[in-house]
Amino acid sequence: MAKEHYIIPFFIPHTGCPHHCVFCSQNKITGKERPVLPEHILTTVREYIATFPRDAKRVEVAFFGGSFTGIPLPLQNAFLGQAYAAKRKGLIDGIRLSTRPDYINNSILDNLKGYGVDTVELGVQSMNNRVLDLSQRGHTAEDVAYASRLIRGYGFNLGLQMMVGLPGSDREAEIETAERVCALGPDFVRIYPALIIRGTALEEMYRAGTYRPLPLGEAVDVCVTLAEMFARERIKVIRMGLQPTDMINEEGEVVAGPFHPSFRQLVDSRLLLKVVSKVIDQRGLNSVGELVIEANPRTLPTLQGIGKESIKSLREAYPRLAVKVTGNRGLGQTVLRIISGDGLSEVDYRRVLEKGI
Ligand code: SF4
Repeated sequence: MAKEHYIIPFFIPHTGCPHHCVFCSQNKITGKERPVLPEHILTTVREYIATFPRDAKRVEVAFFGGSFTGIPLPLQNAFLGQAYAAKRKGLIDGIRLSTRPDYINNSILDNLKGYGVDTVELGVQSMNNRVLDLSQRGHTAEDVAYASRLIRGYGFNLGLQMMVGLPGSDREAEIETAERVCALGPDFVRIYPALIIRGTALEEMYRAGTYRPLPLGEAVDVCVTLAEMFARERIKVIRMGLQPTDMINEEGEVVAGPFHPSFRQLVDSRLLLKVVSKVIDQRGLNSVGELVIEANPRTLPTLQGIGKESIKSLREAYPRLAVKVTGNRGLGQTVLRIISGDGLSEVDYRRVLEKGI
């Protein structure tokens, strides 16, 4: 199935940001040293569109960088004006941006409405005030709740971003954050495991021995739990893990932490493994001899797991079962066809996750 949703990203760093979030080295995370200027927007939009399929269902301009509504208003408006012009010309369908919870108020949202913005994403990071404090975020969980309600009240789509593994956090605090995020009713979330990027305060804390990053396995574990919680609330997780940019892939930029170029696949594979195990247990298939699981070819690598890890786990958990997985182009991307000696059944794994494992 072709991709339907296309993003044209513009990274707008918050030059002169007065905050000191311990994990932030903004230029490195965005992978951009060269500043984007408002006059670049329309040309860049046209260049991107030329590479998209004609039948793309939705094309959006996205202003990333974390603090869009904190940059000077004339500059915000210069960017927004260009994006809005692209929207009115029918070149794009939507405008989205990300910002901090304490850079949201009525006049800011009035301004965004005036420029046809559709989606506002907030960097929440944690809903635990101690974690926010230790991470030097400079805002509280109450600011997040207030900003989220205001954004919702204005009719924008709401996205919330959380981080796992921040200083002072633990599994309980991550779960508390996810519960409170769910209660705010976002349209989607992003989950980022905290990484130690060169030149950040987190690097100093790590070198001084006052901060321990999450090991990769623990980061995957907690993200599996959070993904299950969001699935039960039918909240889409549109990203897990930092997108590898050229900068971040440069040797030595990630000093430590749970970085994996296919972090999401690690989490999704674990989720699928849980779904398959549940089906085997519930249907008493653990001694049927041979079990064939068919999946859409796009889903197959996730079903198998990186290095066929999931297949090995299934064989260990069910030693009397010969598990085989194979591709079937006729299946939807969320459907698994399970064939045993007893017969054949289809399972929509998204529905299984929505009901809870
Ligand atoms: S992450 Fe924090 S320090 Fe970095 S730009 Fe955003 S608000 Fe400023």
